[in-house]
Amino acid sequence: MIKNTIYPLLTGFFTVAFKGDLKFPKVENIPSFIFLIITDSGEPVLVDTGFDLNHIPAPDSIGKREPHQEIPALLKKFDLTPSDIKKVVQTHLHWDHAAGLKYFPHADIYIQAAEFEGLFHLLRYEETSFCPEHWFHLRDKFILINGDYEIMPGITLLRTGGHTSGHQALKIQCGEKTAILLGDSPFTYEWLWTLVPESLWEIYKTGRGRNFFWQEEKLSEIKSWFEKAEIIHGRDHDDYSVEDIKRMGEIHIFSHDPSLINTKSI
Ligand SMILES: [Zn+2]
Repeated sequence: MIKNTIYPLLTGFFTVAFKGDLKFPKVENIPSFIFLIITDSGEPVLVDTGFDLNHIPAPDSIGKREPHQEIPALLKKFDLTPSDIKKVVQTHLHWDHAAGLKYFPHADIYIQAAEFEGLFHLLRYEETSFCPEHWFHLRDKFILINGDYEIMPGITLLRTGGHTSGHQALKIQCGEKTAILLGDSPFTYEWLWTLVPESLWEIYKTGRGRNFFWQEEKLSEIKSWFEKAEIIHGRDHDDYSVEDIKRMGEIHIFSHDPSLINTKSI
């Protein structure tokens, strides 16, 4: 029986808030977890890489991180350094999941190809949720997958879509139990992009939000790279619903679940 072990690692908390009377839901003190999997054969695999304290979109946003919540310090508790991690899985490329890739320039980075296709059809202003500076320079290390794909014995990527076009969850065999790392799949927020009136977006774009919008040539750069990129084809299917993927295992783990703070391993 395959026994992988999952360790939730807390990388800090963030609050996303817009100034003023915007009916924008203030999401406070969201814990941000990444996951270290020690595989059956003892290999470490990291799932997601967290947020950057200096890059939290929305004007009133803040982040908190203790020194022991920095990625190298978190890995040190397992006698690992970032260079020991040869495989990183990104559930998706949002700003709060991919900023720590800077620690892993030599790891293979598993991403769904659909995540990039989605970037070419973003809703207006949605680009502020992605920061290409976090990941585009590592494109030679990307392993692009289409569909469901087993990367290690008992560790299968499941393309869910929904939260982002190429969002993926993971199905992980942990002895007798199967755990599902849901990533952010329980959440979709198309509604968010229409909630803030266009006039305010424009003010944001020229003011404090300046750094969260992409450089003009970025999208075409990503497009021309992606057109030539190699894609590994796994099992293709329509997007899974959250219920579909929950049915695939008994343990369900969501990336921002506060109850994980007291969970040592799964
Ligand atoms: Zn997300």
